[in-house]
Amino acid sequence: MMWLVNGVYLVVAVLFILGLKAMSSPVKARSGIAWAGVGMVLATLVTFLIPGMQNLTLMLVAIVLGGGVAWWAGKVVKMTDMPQMVAIYNGMGGGAAALIAAVEFARAEVHGPVVGTLAVLGSLIGSVAFSGSVIAFLKLQGIMKKAIRLPGQNLINIALGLLTIALGVWIVISSVGVGTANPLLLVLFFVLSLALGVILTMPIGGADMPVVISLLNAFTGLAVGFEGYVLGNPTLIIAGIVVGASGTLLTQLMAKAMNRPILGVLFTPITGEAQAGGEIEGSMREMTAMDAAALMRYSEKVLVIPGYGMAVAGAQHKVWEMAKLLEEQGVEVKFAIHPVAGRMPGHMNVLLAEAGVPYEKIFDLEEINAEFPQTDVALVIGANDVVNPVARTDKSSPIFGMPILDADKARNCIVIKRGRGAGYSGIENALFYGDHTTMLYGSAQQAVGDVITQLKELS
Ligand code: NDP
Repeated sequence: MMWLVNGVYLVVAVLFILGLKAMSSPVKARSGIAWAGVGMVLATLVTFLIPGMQNLTLMLVAIVLGGGVAWWAGKVVKMTDMPQMVAIYNGMGGGAAALIAAVEFARAEVHGPVVGTLAVLGSLIGSVAFSGSVIAFLKLQGIMKKAIRLPGQNLINIALGLLTIALGVWIVISSVGVGTANPLLLVLFFVLSLALGVILTMPIGGADMPVVISLLNAFTGLAVGFEGYVLGNPTLIIAGIVVGASGTLLTQLMAKAMNRPILGVLFTPITGEAQAGGEIEGSMREMTAMDAAALMRYSEKVLVIPGYGMAVAGAQHKVWEMAKLLEEQGVEVKFAIHPVAGRMPGHMNVLLAEAGVPYEKIFDLEEINAEFPQTDVALVIGANDVVNPVARTDKSSPIFGMPILDADKARNCIVIKRGRGAGYSGIENALFYGDHTTMLYGSAQQAVGDVITQLKELS
């Protein structure tokens, strides 16, 4: 029977890799998810055929319960709550990997120093991913509003990290030959690892969150891969490597997008409470939907910059309807996406794709930034941090150095937002006070709807 199991595992590995490949293109992403999903179902089913597998009923109950909750949550979750859900499910992966090691130690099944080391590493990284993701969830959900930085935070981090590693080494040494370890030491090790995840993630806030979320994702992949080795399960190893590698690449991309070294995020995080150095001079000028519609209707080129506010308002369909109306009037419309806009990697791309915006109209920061000086209107819809020019000009700003979309360089800039609310990083935005900027106040859905009404009247 094992030949069948291994054969299916091979097919599953191919499905995972093909699925991930397809996910790298927006056109094929949906099919990529389906391929990987089929792989996951096959991997789960074939596990029942492994000779000597016990507790089949318990496994079925767990699958039905877990699958049921995930199915229900997937159905009811609002598009705006997606980032939190992704964060918490990522944490579950890390937690599950850590539990595998705990169970293997309890069964006295961790044989040899290599397996012992991998089991301990997997538990450490998996526990950090789990508790860190819970904190990320609380922050994204708005339950934990402040980044909490303890006095001597870095020293505490390092001391706790070293203590946990030392305990891990002791567990590996003491388990050699017996395959198990002192249960008290194990419990202490898991408590310290979970505390490490909390203490590392708590001080991180504001614009650094995307980097830490993708880092936790990479951690989960690594933990699953290590525990796959402990169990001797090739599918787990491959799935873990795929997630770990893609999570690591994503972390690098996010860190590059923020122009922040990963160690800087962990050890000198942006807390989200700092303000830009000097007071911003000037005042915000307001405009009506009628003015906004007329300005865009008689423009040659409009660049739309969506942000978190568009996601919260669920305004993407209206935004696309407005873009189509403008195009019918001969205006060139493009969408400019910042890599960290919204609350999860690819957030804006997902929403615009859902609304039916063709992929060839969506451009990344590097592709589009040079076009702003030749643009008549930069239309900022619920974006804030990703267009804040203090990142370019104010050395004292916590987001100094972060590449931004150059909306301030366009001939005119219209900003749709509800009021004076700050962005996720809590920093005042100099763009809103600019000479070429006018504010169209209102929730994105309503404001864009009003612009559409006015555009129809003008046509
Ligand atoms: P921001 O969070 O900086 O700003 C969003 C703006 O939208 C606010 O200023 C708010 O102003 C406005 N807004 C809120 N609700 C509405 C609404 N209903 N209609 C219209 N406007 C609204 O968003 P950005 O996308 O510019 O930046 C993303 C930030 O989130 C970055 O700092 C990034 O680092 C961080 N982040 C990103 C993650 C990712 O993976 N992409 C993950 C975690 C954090 P007002 O209240 O006045 O309306």
